Order: sequence, then structure tokens, then C-alpha cells
Amino acid sequence: MDARTFSQINGKPIVQSTGYATQPPLQRFLLQCHQDYVTDSSGAVADYIPELKKANPAHFGISLATIDGHVYDIGDSAVPFTIQSVSKAFVFALALELVGEKRVEAAIGVEPSGEAFNSIRLTSDNRPFNPMVNAGAIACSGLIHQVDGESAFDRIQEKLSQFAGRELGVDEDVHRSERLTGDRNRAIAWLLRNYAVVQDVDAVLDTYFRQCAMLVTARDLAIMAATLANRGINPVTGVRVISPYVVAKTLSVMTSSGMYDYAGEWVYRVGIPAKSGVGGGIVAALPSQLGLGTFSPCLDTHGNSVRGLKVCETLSARFDLHMLNRSADVRTCIIADYDISGISSRRSRQPHEQQILEDHRQDIRVIELIGALNFAAIDYVTRRLSSEPPAAPLLILDFRRVPDMTQAGARLLGENLAVLGKTGVTSILAGFEDQSPISAVIRASAGDETRLRRFVLLDDAIEWAEDQIIYRHGGFIQSKETSHLTDQMLLAELTAEQIQALAELSTPRHYDTGQRILGAGEPANSIFFLQSGMVSVKLASGVRLASLGPGMVFGEMAMIETERSADVWADTAVRCLELPLDAFSDYRNLNPQIGLQIMRNLSALLARRLILANAKVDLLSAY
Ligand code: GLN
Repeated sequence: MDARTFSQINGKPIVQSTGYATQPPLQRFLLQCHQDYVTDSSGAVADYIPELKKANPAHFGISLATIDGHVYDIGDSAVPFTIQSVSKAFVFALALELVGEKRVEAAIGVEPSGEAFNSIRLTSDNRPFNPMVNAGAIACSGLIHQVDGESAFDRIQEKLSQFAGRELGVDEDVHRSERLTGDRNRAIAWLLRNYAVVQDVDAVLDTYFRQCAMLVTARDLAIMAATLANRGINPVTGVRVISPYVVAKTLSVMTSSGMYDYAGEWVYRVGIPAKSGVGGGIVAALPSQLGLGTFSPCLDTHGNSVRGLKVCETLSARFDLHMLNRSADVRTCIIADYDISGISSRRSRQPHEQQILEDHRQDIRVIELIGALNFAAIDYVTRRLSSEPPAAPLLILDFRRVPDMTQAGARLLGENLAVLGKTGVTSILAGFEDQSPISAVIRASAGDETRLRRFVLLDDAIEWAEDQIIYRHGGFIQSKETSHLTDQMLLAELTAEQIQALAELSTPRHYDTGQRILGAGEPANSIFFLQSGMVSVKLASGVRLASLGPGMVFGEMAMIETERSADVWADTAVRCLELPLDAFSDYRNLNPQIGLQIMRNLSALLARRLILANAKVDLLSAY
């Protein structure tokens, strides 16, 4: 049903235009906000910087950038305006990155001042109260100037552009206008020089005025905020702009001081770290959720955009976004916890190997985790590991559904694996890519002496653990063995003569390691009896369906289907016998009883595979 039909059926126009009803709800909500507040013309544009008086009070833009890089744009979201104090948050982040927290904290405090942004008062130890008021921001620009000198502004411009994901320019008129009239800021800068917080007053002030005159749009602000919300990675460009550590410090001062002397009210009512500027912009960054940018030049008495404030308040209330209103059930982070009864790897095993695995199935414990894991979730996992003895000597933790883990969580886990290691448990991490920084942290926390293995695929991890069990209990790993047709499961119950007759119909084949033996889609006209070496049956995607060793058959689906359904690769040098299907059919026609027995054996093989597949499906649906 399209939007127009909907409004006709109801007899009254509920939707404004065709397509409105199909817009995502958040877009519609923001549009509604825009409509509701565009009529509010209270407040006034800033006039203490003469050039800012020219701002059009009617302008109103809202942008919201999501963590996955989608941007909702409403109204004048592409209209450029000067960033002003919003720059303070990002320049503070840059200063932290550039000179480190010690130097920043020695120069600037982090206490809310409770005063207006342009207050000239310093703390009792003669530092600016925080980096979100002018004094603190000028000190920040000063720190960057100490490192970069003349090119301090270039560094700032480059960093803020990375936050926005595009090259940001400067409004030269606004810059000149503030330079000519900014005596209050000049007074602040001289005061800071008196206390040796700033050295070259003119150069630092010029850097500061320039940074305030940088041109942004509401959309830019939304993406800049989303970069903070996304732990420092710009979700649109994918570029890491700043470290997570710096993000946390920046959001902290935004929370306590970002909205000037309205900061307390702001945290209480909205609860989203934010920063506003006298150009009419507000950025708000809700960690792991969204970045918001608003633009409307009319300001209230605190210097905050009137409409922007309303949008933030309404958005937070409507979607329960207050940062302190959070809950999580850590117990959902374990999606499955099992031993390997009925759940083997996709590697087919010889009967005696299967017996060993069956007898020692509880020696392998697999825990599959899900979701972003923080300290609380990992604490829960560690308690699960130690509260349910007997500990399996092989512990597999699968992270393939874990998109992120905090450093604290990774360290906690590493420490726990070290403790388990001392009691003889070998831990195996599955689901991490080769270069995963998280697995590096786990490994480092576990220490060198802890035995840790890592596999990309859970199935490979299980196979490795099974091998350990088989070795430990006197089994041997089949790939080194050779097998005769009499060991073939497909030929079970056949007499030596019958098997010999089949062997005579077959041709010996040799393959080298890495060679493709069969390709999906090829005509299926023969069956292979593996005599030595290992092969893997794989889908085009690389997913392994099975690994087979001597005594096993592949290509056997040719007895049922006309095309090969998967690729078969030689994992090692391979020797096998290829039995052409037409010769085999002739043989079956002559010996119907034997044909029947072979089909019965095939059914048994397939049934075992199905039981295994069902067990895996069942395992995950049970949680
Ligand atoms: N450039 C402005 C100033 O220093 C920035 C102030 C603001 O946006 N609150 O006065």
C-alpha cells in the first residue's frame, strides 16, 4: 500500500506526500521536530562578533549520523556556518593526542566553571576551569601552537576535517571580524600568559579565532559527533581519527561543561555529551548510538541555540537516550555452551578415533559468545568458567559473533585463561582474524607461559582439539595411514572378491597438495575411494563441509546426483581409486544384492551426516 492509498482509505490526509509513510521512522521524527520548532523564533543571533549579526535567523538544519554511517538530513543541514565553540571539543581531543594528558592537565582543569563561556576567572591555582570555556580553549590552542608553531592551525584544520570526513574551510570575514573585536578573549589570553599557560599571545589567539571561524554544516557536526560516538572511527569514511581513550576524555568534559552554565540542566534533562557554539551549532554524541548536529542561529541567554536545544531534548526523551538510562543482561553473551557429544568437527573420523572422541567428549568444552563484550560480560563468562567443574582440559571460546570487546574485558579474560592454564587447561580462541588487536590483548594478558591457540574458524578449532584428544588417548591421526578398499565404510559387508572386482574397475589417481580434484558443477560420473592423504570438501565461499582421510569416499553423491555439488581439494598428497559410474552401474546390474548393500551403506553415511547437522542446528536453537 503506498502513501496516497493509505490517506484516501482513511478519508483524511494523514500523510503529507507520497513516500512520507515509507521513510524510516527516525527521519519522520526529525522532520516532525523541524516542523514543530521552526516556528519558534525566540532568542537572538550572536552580535558581539559583528560578522555573526549577518546570520539568517530562519535557518534551521538537523542531521543525525548513525554508527553504521547513515546520515539523516533535515532542513538547512547543508548550510555552512562558523563552528565557533563547538571546535573546542575537537581541539581538546587533538591537544590530548598531540601533547598527552599530563601536559594538558597541567595547563587546564576539568571542573565546570558554572560561569559563562567567556568568563575571565581562573581556578585558584590559576588554570582555566576546563577546555570548553574560552580560557581553556585558548590554552588548548596554545599547547598545539607550542608543538606546531605557525602551522598549528593547519594541524587543527586537518584534524577537524578528518572528524567531518571532508575538507573544512574558514570564513575569512568572521575570522577578521573576531580578530578586530575580540578584546575579551585577548584579555583572557594575556591573563593566561601572566600565569605562563600561553606564550605567544597574538599567534595563539589567531589560531583560536581561525579555528572558531571554520565553516561546517549540521551534517558535518553530526558526522563529527558520530566519530566520537563510534570510539574515534569516522563511521562514514572508516578512518580512525582519534583513540578511544581520547574520546572518553573528550566526552567527559563535554558532559560536565559542554553547554556552558547550562551544563548541569543539560545532563539532567538530555543526558547526552554535547557542545554548542555561538554560530548556532550544537553537537551531541551518544556513545555507540549516534551523533547529532543541529544548526539554528538564535541563541538563549546561555549562548545555546534555542531550537537545537529543543531538538536534543525531544530526541532524548522520545527515544530514551539519556546516557545514564542503560541496562544490559550480561547473561545473554553466551549463546551456547557444550561439550562435543554429537557435535564433532566436519572432519570425518575413523571408527576407532570416533570411539576415543565419544569416550572423552567432555574433555572439550565449547563456549560461543555473542555481542559486544564489556568488562561485566567477561566477568560473567569467567564465573561461568570456574563455577561449573569439572574443567575440560580443552576450552574453546568462539568469538565469531563478537564485534567488539573492551580492553578491560580482554584483559580480564586473558588473566582468567592464565589461571585456567595453570590447572592444565589449554584455551583455544576461535573467530578472530589473524591481526585481531583484541586477541593480542587477551594473549598479552594471559602471559607467554599460558598455552593459547587461535583459529579463524570454530570448526578448525574443534578439529584441532579433537586431534589432541585422539593423540592423548593413543589414537593416531589418519592422514599418515594408507587404507585398503576393505576398510571402506561404503563397502562394508562386501566380500574380498566383490571388493577386488570393484578395484579392478577403478583407476589409481594421484594428486598433489593444494590440487583441486573435483569442481562444483562438473558432471558427477565417478566415485573416489581415498587410500592415503587428506581431502577437504568445500563450497565456493571456502566454507568446509568435510575433511576426509583414508578409508573414506568422496564424490559418492554421484550415485544420486548428476552434478558435483561442491569442490574437493587435496590437503596433502593424495592417492585414491576412481571408480567410473557407468562401470559401477554395469557391475550393480549384474550383482543387484551387492548394489543394494552399497546403497544401504551410503544411506548410513548420509544419515550420520544429517544427525550431526541436526545436532548443530538444535544446539543453537536451544539457546
Ligand atoms: N569565537 C567565540 C568566542 O571566543 C566562540 C564562543 C562560543 O561559541 N561560545 O567568543
